[in-house]
Amino acid sequence: MSSSSARLLVANIGSTSFKFRLFEMPSERLLARGGADRIGAAESEWSFAATGAEASKGAACFTGYADAIAHFERLLREAGVIDSFRDLAAVGFKPVMARDISGTQIFDERVLAAMEALYTLFPAHNPPYVNAVREFQRLYPGLPCIGTFETAFYDHLPRAATRFPVPLEWERKYGIRRTGFHGASHRFVTERAAELRGSKQLKIVSCHLGGSSSICAVRDGKAVDSSWGMTPQSGLPQNNRSGDLDVFGVIHLVRNLGLDLADVEKQLGTASGLKGMSGLDSGDFRDLRAAAEAGNEDAASAIEVFVSAVRGYIGRFLVALDGCDVLVFTAGIGENNADLRAAICRDMSFCGLELDAAANAACKATEAVISTPASRIEVRVIPTNEEIVIARNAWAKLSQS
Ligand code: ADP
Repeated sequence: MSSSSARLLVANIGSTSFKFRLFEMPSERLLARGGADRIGAAESEWSFAATGAEASKGAACFTGYADAIAHFERLLREAGVIDSFRDLAAVGFKPVMARDISGTQIFDERVLAAMEALYTLFPAHNPPYVNAVREFQRLYPGLPCIGTFETAFYDHLPRAATRFPVPLEWERKYGIRRTGFHGASHRFVTERAAELRGSKQLKIVSCHLGGSSSICAVRDGKAVDSSWGMTPQSGLPQNNRSGDLDVFGVIHLVRNLGLDLADVEKQLGTASGLKGMSGLDSGDFRDLRAAAEAGNEDAASAIEVFVSAVRGYIGRFLVALDGCDVLVFTAGIGENNADLRAAICRDMSFCGLELDAAANAACKATEAVISTPASRIEVRVIPTNEEIVIARNAWAKLSQS
């Protein structure tokens, strides 16, 4: 393979956003990164940085992913990084879930159809991914598009961890069962923790706390349980999604109180979680904290609910794993928010966890141990790098095919 073809683009797709990192493979050298928000609006914002060069940002009108892709292709050409996306070895993606398909897959019609089959379960995630992949396939015929599903890290969960207490027929016939997401992130931070500790034989509780949040129990490199249920709508309270909820509350709203099911679905998916509980316009943790500090009790108690849910899962996984060697914090909230980490780790002397207050306060989005040397559980902050996991998997898939 020529050196110019060993460029791999990792694309991170949101419903109105397109972010990317361009790697040289197999060296994993980051060549450039960038992204655009508000795609489809009158004005989209973009940012771009080629490694070693000055970063730039601006505003433009991107009517769809194709406009954003063309924009970044031009910036990369002007920066002398790559002539055309036609020269890429592959584009890697991080899709969420497909029906009966997981792992790392080359996107073909079978895989795309399996994602389309789950649009109702993943309305915010699957349609944008399918659309973006189809755009790349249309613009660059023959360019391999390869995705590692978010569920891939959970493909070998023990059966009991995949079951809901529902009729057996629902599980067998309708596929109502638990899985997990944020697989690339939990894989990255737990592998990195093992590397830093010099051992793969570790019990790890991995806390990915960000716009969406989850906790994963990992034994010897394998996920054994997670906070997720069947969709990203489950588990911890999310920025604007409910997380776990008593389903009979929903039935009551629709059947007895006359709310429209489609409206309830929308509220649970866009106006619940931290945003819903706080009553603010935003589910961004910084906004909730600022409001709480200004005396907003709904915001303060929403943060308490979040902390309590995180502590609940940590407690459950400490029991499931019979202890824990490393507790990891990662993602936007987990990496940046020392107060929240302290609140989560309070009163844990029963299991010998002792946070180092100064180390915790000093740590912002860097790798650090934030527990004391005497702590029986080591607490670490490890910035996540989902893109490199996607790039590695796409590269490995390419080498096999
Ligand atoms: P996602 O990728 O799921 O959209 P992120 O991992 O970027 O989310 O996390 C977003 C969350 O992280 C937001 O709630 C935001 O408040 C929080 N966050 C991001 N940066 C910071 C920061 N510098 N300080 C405090 N919180 C932050």
